Amino acid sequence: MIVNHNLYGFKSTEKLPLPFNCEHYIHMKYPESFSSKLPKVQTSIFTVMSKMAADYNAINLSQGFPDFPVSTELIGKVNEYMTKGFNQYAPAAGLPRLREGIAAQTKLCYGAEYNPETEITITAGATEAIFCAITAMIREDDEVIMFTPAYDCYAPTVELCNGEPVYVPLHAPDYKVDWDEVKKLITRRTRMIIINTPHNPTGTVFTAKDAEQLERITKDNDIVIVSDEVYAHIIFDDEQHQSMSRFPHLASRSFVVGSFGKTFHVTGWKVGFCLAPENLTAELRKIHQYVTFAVNHPVQCAIADYIESPDNYLHIAEMYRQKRDFFVDALKGSKFKVTLSKGSYYQLLDYSAITDEPDTQFAERLTKEHGVASIPISVFYNNPVHECMLRFCFAKENETLEKAAEILHKL
Ligand code: PMP
Ligand code: GLN
Repeated sequence: MIVNHNLYGFKSTEKLPLPFNCEHYIHMKYPESFSSKLPKVQTSIFTVMSKMAADYNAINLSQGFPDFPVSTELIGKVNEYMTKGFNQYAPAAGLPRLREGIAAQTKLCYGAEYNPETEITITAGATEAIFCAITAMIREDDEVIMFTPAYDCYAPTVELCNGEPVYVPLHAPDYKVDWDEVKKLITRRTRMIIINTPHNPTGTVFTAKDAEQLERITKDNDIVIVSDEVYAHIIFDDEQHQSMSRFPHLASRSFVVGSFGKTFHVTGWKVGFCLAPENLTAELRKIHQYVTFAVNHPVQCAIADYIESPDNYLHIAEMYRQKRDFFVDALKGSKFKVTLSKGSYYQLLDYSAITDEPDTQFAERLTKEHGVASIPISVFYNNPVHECMLRFCFAKENETLEKAAEILHKL
């Protein structure tokens, strides 16, 4: 029996499935003198909750991925390019045609000009772009400001570089940034600020005023920005995506990160990109070249064709708005309280009228006893808060959302 402890306070005693005749592998052990570079890091909450959902046959609204089909045109193109023989290494910086397509998309959406040759890099998902940007810039004792709840890959990457994460907590229900607080945290050691809009897990978005404040804070120093914009095309109602690329001063110091996984419902393909000024791009590419060297070639060819039609990405905001509204309407009359998500495909639900349990405990019980998996958001804080909030992914078929809402109504 393997007891599997994890960061999030769950203890799973399930026997892990092992391939036939492999039992002996788990008895191998490296010498005790070994010490982990990331002693606090354990299995990601997304893996933990998706496994729990599978083990208990629960509806999985935890890990963020769509359950509906991918465009047959896009799949057809991947097949076509594989068949035509685009199966060897792509250029390290990314397929030139795809980089040109991203430049055109950025110009169309935000009016910003990036040189595809020197300022755009294709990466293995947004995760690789974020890893390379942080690793390229952060040295020992550099401070990196990030807002919590924060997406899980930021802090460990900073720590790998011997940098120091500096956390700015955001609070329910609006999770607004207090820029005066941020200003107070700037020191001579501050090297980077990581932002994420639309925001995972809260579904909040930066306003033009937020961008203005960030501009003020970075006016007289050389702080760089990593702007995680993977949900750029999933923004609702009257909100506009405030990409850092829109603002010349901010763009001149930003790594702007995107993900085709989110935009084209293909999270498993792991293709993303990074926009940055030439000198920052050069440093990012030095790392990229040794992390992956190059990204999946036929998939890049297919996406290059597909983003030529803006309709293929501009319609997704409306599609997801309908899903958000469908899910929220289906919850009307339940005990969950809702502040509408403004962007991303996540909706937070406040369960304080049901129980005062910590969110990790309630999420576990909701999965095991009621059959709906979600994400407890306290795990994305450095000092976990007790705000009775769970994150639900609504990138699902309406039928899935309806079934989940039916269960949630009974609580
Ligand atoms: N940033 C945020 C905020 C995310 O939600 C995700 C999740 N997919 C990523 C980065 C990573 O994106 P990718 O799968 O393209 O690596
Ligand atoms: N971004 C996805 C989410 O927030 C998960 C990605 C992952 O599993 N690493 O749910």
